[in-house]
Amino acid sequence: MTIKELHSKLKTKQISSSELTKEALEKIEKGNSKVAAFLSITPEVALEQAKHADALIASEKEVCWLTGIPFGLKDVIVTEGITTTAASKILEDFTPPYSATVYENLKSVKGVLVGKLNCDEFAMGASTENSAYVKTKNPWDLERVPGGSSGGSAAAVSAGLVPYALGTDTGGSIRQPSSFCSVVGLKPTYGRVSRYGLIPLGNSLDQAGPITNSVEDSAVVLNIIAGFDPKDSTSVKKDLPDYSKNLSKGIKELKFGIPKEYLAEGVDPKVKEVFLRASKKIEDLGGKIVETSLPRSEQAIPVYYIIMSSEVSTNLARYDGIRFGKSRDFFGPETKRRIMLGTYALSSGYYDAYYLKAAKVRQLIFEDFQNAFEKVDFIIGPTSPILPFKFGERVDNPLQMYLADLFTVPQNLAGVPAISVPGGFSEGLPVGLQITANHFEEEKLLQAAYAFEQATDFHKQKPEGF
Ligand code: GLN
Repeated sequence: MTIKELHSKLKTKQISSSELTKEALEKIEKGNSKVAAFLSITPEVALEQAKHADALIASEKEVCWLTGIPFGLKDVIVTEGITTTAASKILEDFTPPYSATVYENLKSVKGVLVGKLNCDEFAMGASTENSAYVKTKNPWDLERVPGGSSGGSAAAVSAGLVPYALGTDTGGSIRQPSSFCSVVGLKPTYGRVSRYGLIPLGNSLDQAGPITNSVEDSAVVLNIIAGFDPKDSTSVKKDLPDYSKNLSKGIKELKFGIPKEYLAEGVDPKVKEVFLRASKKIEDLGGKIVETSLPRSEQAIPVYYIIMSSEVSTNLARYDGIRFGKSRDFFGPETKRRIMLGTYALSSGYYDAYYLKAAKVRQLIFEDFQNAFEKVDFIIGPTSPILPFKFGERVDNPLQMYLADLFTVPQNLAGVPAISVPGGFSEGLPVGLQITANHFEEEKLLQAAYAFEQATDFHKQKPEGF
């Protein structure tokens, strides 16, 4: 069920939050044995929080859409008193002494945390296979990956184990698994949502955001987690619209640019076919499809992997075996690879050739978006160039895995918001449509996504067996 449906049941007292939470916990127990989306389930916390939600609902005070509704958090979001591992063995016993702002926000409206969700170790990956604990499965085909790094979050929502979850996105980790699992994933503008309490991957790129069953739900969750936070020096003080208010505004006369670089080589023809059908739908709805260009598309992956790895190498220096329990031997292979890449790119003698150069090209990528947005309202493309792949297909070839991020890293480098919505299927496998807007245009972005969603029924199709 969507958040909206559950909210109306709670409000009209057809069900209490405690009952809903018990049902959710039973469902998780069953469903999780199939998809392995959760790293930990938190029944005590959930039932306690549900009690508070029921008290608020009974008091007849204004309740928020999220009050009393269960949710899950990707395990890089720190939660006071609840183990937070970042899917790494190095943090196996880490119980944070404080909570991330996004979790505090959800607690303040009496949301109900039912568990922590699997991901790639420290959010490094595109398949969730880099988790040190379990392999999360794609609910649409249990032999395939759910995408990553927020694979547990996307799989849990797709399999109906939670109505919504939060993920984090440094180079696509909310949007790509949402595409692979046929759910809605939003990466907000850099600075819109607080990063305080996210275990960082790349600080200049990271954003937390909602993974939901519908665009309306995405707007509702963004309403609660967005906003200025004095604890995050990069969070931005800017008016916060009610994102769910004007969703049905429509897209008539708005311009949707398809970058000519997006349909070049490297895109699976099956993905391309579904995407072109989706863009036809946008045209039917009155949107104008035009060609645009992001000339530095080809540079985005190398630039991202240099900048992100450089940030990783400084971030992960804190795991020195003194401040946090375990020694560095407990890092997985992908984490070690990125620490080495980043350390190399930042070393004296190489800094100018790698990090500095990448930072300069990043600025050009930013300018590419600004130039494009002078002529179009949105940029559209497939979220992922490839379909959900089988376990083991890419994990031993890091370059192949990195190429899966082709369409999602440019937005993080430029800081602009983007959403993945269910865009169709190819041979039963989901394909996401990605819509990108300019900085702080989440409202307009959600309106466009909503128009597409309401005119299609892909979001209503659910995987079998859950
Ligand atoms: N797949 C990308 C990477 O491996 C993105 C990860 C993310 O957004 N957290 O870095």
